[in-house]
Amino acid sequence: VRKTKAKPSASTSVKTVFQEGLDTQVQFCPGVGPKRAQLLRKLHIESVYDIFWHFPRAYEDFHELSSIQQVKVGEIATVQGTVTMLESSQPRGRSKVRCIIRAVIADETGSILAVWFNQSFLTQKIQKGSTVILHGKVEHYDGFAQMSVPKVEIVENDQNTTGILPLYPLTEGLSQGVVRKIVQAAFAKFGQNWKEILPDTIRETYAYPTRIQALHTLHFPQPTDKAPTDLAIAQRNFLMDTGEEEIESSSFIPSGDPATVWGKARQRLAFDEFLLHQLILRTHSEQAKTQTGIVHPMPEPSPWGEMTACANHDQAAWPALFVWNLPYTLTEDQQQVCQELESDMHAPKPMNRLLQGDVGAGKTVVSCYAMMLAVSGGRQAALMTPTEILAQQHADNIRNYTRGMEGLHVVVLSGTMKTKERREVVERIANGSAQIVIGTHALFQESIEFANLGLVVVDEQHKFGVNQRLKLLAKGQHPDLLVATATPIPRTLSLTLFGDMDVSVIASLPPGRPELITRWTHWEKEDKVWAFMDTLIAAGQQIYVVCPIISPSDNAPNLPSTEEAFDKLSATFLAHRRVAILHGRHRSEEKETMMAQLKAGTIDAVIATTVIEVGVDLPNATAMIILGAERFGLAQLHQLRGRVGRGTEKSYCVLVTPNQIADYAQQRMRCMESTRDGFVIAEEDLKLRGPGEHFGTRQSGHVRFRIADPYRDGDLLREAHQVAQQIYRQDPALTTPAHAGLKDEMTRKYGEWQANRPS
Ligand code: ADP
Ligand code: MG
Repeated sequence: VRKTKAKPSASTSVKTVFQEGLDTQVQFCPGVGPKRAQLLRKLHIESVYDIFWHFPRAYEDFHELSSIQQVKVGEIATVQGTVTMLESSQPRGRSKVRCIIRAVIADETGSILAVWFNQSFLTQKIQKGSTVILHGKVEHYDGFAQMSVPKVEIVENDQNTTGILPLYPLTEGLSQGVVRKIVQAAFAKFGQNWKEILPDTIRETYAYPTRIQALHTLHFPQPTDKAPTDLAIAQRNFLMDTGEEEIESSSFIPSGDPATVWGKARQRLAFDEFLLHQLILRTHSEQAKTQTGIVHPMPEPSPWGEMTACANHDQAAWPALFVWNLPYTLTEDQQQVCQELESDMHAPKPMNRLLQGDVGAGKTVVSCYAMMLAVSGGRQAALMTPTEILAQQHADNIRNYTRGMEGLHVVVLSGTMKTKERREVVERIANGSAQIVIGTHALFQESIEFANLGLVVVDEQHKFGVNQRLKLLAKGQHPDLLVATATPIPRTLSLTLFGDMDVSVIASLPPGRPELITRWTHWEKEDKVWAFMDTLIAAGQQIYVVCPIISPSDNAPNLPSTEEAFDKLSATFLAHRRVAILHGRHRSEEKETMMAQLKAGTIDAVIATTVIEVGVDLPNATAMIILGAERFGLAQLHQLRGRVGRGTEKSYCVLVTPNQIADYAQQRMRCMESTRDGFVIAEEDLKLRGPGEHFGTRQSGHVRFRIADPYRDGDLLREAHQVAQQIYRQDPALTTPAHAGLKDEMTRKYGEWQANRPS
């Protein structure tokens, strides 16, 4: 197995670790070190390899510098000069502007005034005497030329800032300048380590640049390469810069025109990603055919027949008891899927099944049934959830439904447990005394060993990458796999993205679901919204309010944050109600306490970020208010809305946006108003995606694509699919020299999966 981890032994110095090349841990890359490595990890950068695949989300075009004397009012200009005056002031009165910064920038030909609003962080970025580049619109003010809210870049002696500058996705604590330097250093040090992976014939057919050429173009484009330099897009995606965003940032850079150098380079790298993914799927499904998995017993008695009396300690009867204990009857779809699971798990071939069903369709209970089948045969079942809230919620439900089954033990493993508690849980997983194990990614850490893992269930699979899944699978002897997803993926795409899996579908929602009304409204109508919410609360119901960010951001003065909304609502409209706030900065105990309070009904309204998006189940919640709804993509809006309309009361989803939003954002709002059907929304999403704003697609395959977008690059995906078939037919084990590079890359990307191969 190949590991990206470098193991410096006594005889190896850090220098020799450098020599290892692309798999070197990022911490050993020039300009990084342990602290920055931590931050880079948040951006999914673990190794040198990943640095090269950390692509800009946009570019700034500074290549046409004007002298200050030349600039004309009304045009967009770029100038370079020294800061000769810098002042910041706070306007009085109740203005939305909290801070004004003014600076005078001078070059040999003259000087110009620049003004920024609510960007107090700028005083840390620029100082009197700094050399800066400004880019923005030139306006007339009091008889002088002035640049209003220009983009600003610091010019450092050792940096070429006169060309096209990459703008990288960032996280709190990492600046644009630092990331640029790291990328530059990585190219200088490791650039020569990149080998071509495409066979020449294929590369020539598509007229693709070499791999390293393509990477270079993406990071350091020439002005003639036509990299996308639309500032509007860069601005829209700023959230990633602030690091305040909780959702996985999944904005894709525009595709560019494949007739340009830049567009071709992007296409080449996207093609690589698709091709490797397709090869893996193909290899994986071929291998699965030859593997011998676990034969789980059929349930005895069958839960689908007459109810009979069974002993609580009779393992074989647990699946039936589970079904009979449920407070409701499973729908026909659910029963059908349960039976598919029975026969699939009973068969000697390892199960590899995708469970698709819209939000609220009742996938969880079906996944639990699969776990009951596994434990009834004396095996362990692991359930991997994307958040700790969900892990806890599932555990509560399962404990509830399995109450009385003697000898059945459910444990939760969380990343934030206290040492002693954790040791106990780990021990019980290892000795098999815990049969059902629920947890987040904490489950696949190396230190976790299972006594007898028979089934892996992955809930809300779009939040996990294929590697995480495979790591968990490797903890058993070809355990069965069930992955549940609520991401509505158009069928044509799912066939290509999940080509190796069997699919079960829960098509209809459980009966008795209440009406769910969706309305799009503007900030001016806010009062009415809250007044209406108050009537719902008065009727004993609960509401969710979702905001795109946690704290107010100077970078985005108009974006609603949980803290602002909380302060305002608890001081005004909902002052007499019990209002709570919930986001990713809360510790997991705090989150758990709050979930418990919500369930107990001691909280009326919860103001949250998208942490509540996934799977949270609170039937008494009847309204979902999404503030700044224009910031979310359709898939995510749909997920959020799926949190309500789960009980018996009529429910509401209100999308609140500014008056003026982009056309495609308006279309998203209308789409949400017009339908509740996830698959209809997914198809719409395919048509509507706005430039650079793609939510929920990057993770929706079972791989985390860095640049390929399965939606937008559908044609490319199909081509890669065909090329992969062809390669696989000619050389399934990739043993010919022409495929050596591809094989290498597959091992690098899917090393854990290789470990899973039958020997
Ligand atoms: P999903 O995971 O598919 O989004 P859940 O499994 O969380 O959906 O189910 C949503 C809600 O529907 C839960 O409150 C669950 O208890 C309930 N539910 C599931 N199946 C049924 C059914 N057959 N009849 C009534 N309610 C059901
Ligand atoms: Mg679920």
